Amino acid sequence: MTRTLWGRAAAPGVAIGPAFLLRTEQRAVGRAAPGDPLAALDAALEEAERDLLALGATMAERVGPDEAEILASHAVIARDPELRALAAEGIAAGRAPAEALTAAFDTFIALLAEVGGEVFGERTADLTDVRDRIVDALEGRSTAVVLPDVPVVLVASELLPSHTAAFPPELLLGVVTETGSPTSHASILARAMGIPAVVGCEGATTAVTEAGALAIDGATGEVIVDPTEDDLVRLRGAAARLAQREVRLRALRDLDGATADGVRVELSANIGSPDDLALALEVGAEGAGLVRTEFLFAGRRTAPGVDEQAALYRRILGAFPGRRVVFRTMDIGADKPLPFVRRGREENPSLGLRGLRLHLAERDLLRTQLAAVLRASDDRSGSDAAGGRAAVMFPMVSVPGELDEALAELGDVAAAAGTDAAGLEVGIMVEVPSAALDAARLASRVAFLSIGTNDLVQYVFAADRLNHAVSGTGDAADPIVLRLIGSVATHGTDHGAWTGVCGEAAGDPGLALILVGLGVRELSMSARSIPAVKDALRRFTLAECRELATLATAPDASVDDVRRHLAELLPS
Ligand code: PEP
Ligand code: MG
Repeated sequence: MTRTLWGRAAAPGVAIGPAFLLRTEQRAVGRAAPGDPLAALDAALEEAERDLLALGATMAERVGPDEAEILASHAVIARDPELRALAAEGIAAGRAPAEALTAAFDTFIALLAEVGGEVFGERTADLTDVRDRIVDALEGRSTAVVLPDVPVVLVASELLPSHTAAFPPELLLGVVTETGSPTSHASILARAMGIPAVVGCEGATTAVTEAGALAIDGATGEVIVDPTEDDLVRLRGAAARLAQREVRLRALRDLDGATADGVRVELSANIGSPDDLALALEVGAEGAGLVRTEFLFAGRRTAPGVDEQAALYRRILGAFPGRRVVFRTMDIGADKPLPFVRRGREENPSLGLRGLRLHLAERDLLRTQLAAVLRASDDRSGSDAAGGRAAVMFPMVSVPGELDEALAELGDVAAAAGTDAAGLEVGIMVEVPSAALDAARLASRVAFLSIGTNDLVQYVFAADRLNHAVSGTGDAADPIVLRLIGSVATHGTDHGAWTGVCGEAAGDPGLALILVGLGVRELSMSARSIPAVKDALRRFTLAECRELATLATAPDASVDDVRRHLAELLPS
């Protein structure tokens, strides 16, 4: 029976196809055989081997042979007969499967420690990784995804970046999640990949049946279970209109980002994967204002070294000859936990060790990454003048002291590598209210400030960007946020630092006009949004943008006023 649900529009486009329910918790193999611990252990070992081999095959294509090899070696560990025998002994002695398995792994790890040497560290990491994966499965925390064999509309309670990394884009027609908001990372990834998405769609996983027909409109938030012929005709019409508009806007590709009176505004792309480069070039991105480096390694369970990172960064720089490419140091933590950084559980991870804070607690991670950016940057300027200009940006800075420590690390890493960090443009994300309020002192230390409106809104309004229950609270169009952005841009200009915006607000054509009116001169967004933002900017002069900004930040302006005004100005 036809049924319509509504969620929040997260990535435009129409998807029609069979539903695929992502049920990670239900695949808890330990629960499948509660009465027989040995059978549970065997099922978990078998599942780990299968998942690791499947993930290895996906990673071979998407990340490279090194990661695939690591995963294949992990599959071998999972099926090691001696490990299994040791764990089985533990079970026979009355231990629970997870406990027996952990003890077996720990015995192996202790043996390796006796051998010692460099190999010890790597092998220990491999063993703990495989151990944790199997224990997760035994305790019902398996996050492995069994892939469908036909293209589907994915329906999930929640989608993690690591799920998305493991899911081949060609199998994804669309995405529906019960949780999340348009600024959560699953939404950002979906937009970057051009996959229609609806988030915060309550009851989706129960309303939908596996392989049942589903039609979604990612521009309106509509989700139709078992759509009628009329529904399909209507949605196909919407898809055709969207495609026509895209073709019209693509004609702007070779024009600079600028206002109608020629004031330059750099329009750059946010990059989360080498797969994003082709589209960025196709729409005429003028560089990369935010490379989310943590996404580049999201599917991995081992930390990438300098060589591997530098190779990837070089590839991204190579796509933007003569343009700026901003590598944000990995913003790990909160909703972006990466398996290769293991930290204790936090009650409030968004307020915890995240971004630069985590880097200052895990300095090797920071040093390795800075060394890789410096090396990629040096190689480009030395051997291939056609490459892009590397810049580095620190996320989640909250006080100047943190930035000073990061800058000192950069200086040390450059000195150790015998290179000069002076040629590297350094900036920070302004996404924590304390940083926005202290923009003058921060701006005096760096070349640029890039405002992360996604987190700034989350922290200004104390409304978790992942929590659907509060997704109506906080909007980048709110005068409170706009005034703050205006003040950051003013302090940036006063201290000779340029100000950009790389949060999702940059890709909203109406908001982009206001941001430019407030003094922002670089907007970095999902490549797909560049043509519409360029089109809007080219229709208004700087004076008109300033007038809009004045209205939007007036003492009595409300967010509804701002949104209404923009809707009148730029009817979609
Ligand atoms: C932001 O917070 O606005 C931002 C661009 O960073 P991320 O979305 O990756 O947290
Ligand atoms: Mg952020």
